[in-house]
Amino acid sequence: MDCIFCSIAAGRVPAEIVYSGNRVLAFLDVNPIHPGHVLIIPKRHSRDLTELPEEVLGELMLATQTVAAGLVHSLDLQGFNLFSNNGAIAGQSVFHFHLHVTPRYPQDNIRFVHGTKEYGPGEMAAVGERIRQAIRDNVSSKEQ
Ligand SMILES: [Zn+2]
Repeated sequence: MDCIFCSIAAGRVPAEIVYSGNRVLAFLDVNPIHPGHVLIIPKRHSRDLTELPEEVLGELMLATQTVAAGLVHSLDLQGFNLFSNNGAIAGQSVFHFHLHVTPRYPQDNIRFVHGTKEYGPGEMAAVGERIRQAIRDNVSSKEQ
């Protein structure tokens, strides 16, 4: 499989690595929103968050916290964004799960442009129930 992030994790493609753990790697995005924009990936290929193995999740979030603190201290940040695009429709361009950590600066004019919607009568409860049911089904299928 030709995956650029697998190649980076395997050391076949160079990257500016800032953190390496047992199952997780963090390196600078080559097309940063700001210098210091970091990508955090599982070393083993997972397409998106829903495919990420449980044993990777904890290490990945701990590494994210460590890297974010490193960004805040080294770049003297007042804040940062944490985000992940999952699926082409969400803007995912490399189909190996990654979390972005991006520095933010005053007046940097970066924003998510969106309009909010309103639920119709009963719609919020119905959507909530669909999601709860899917979560229950998924949890019970994992327990089997
Ligand atoms: Zn990969």
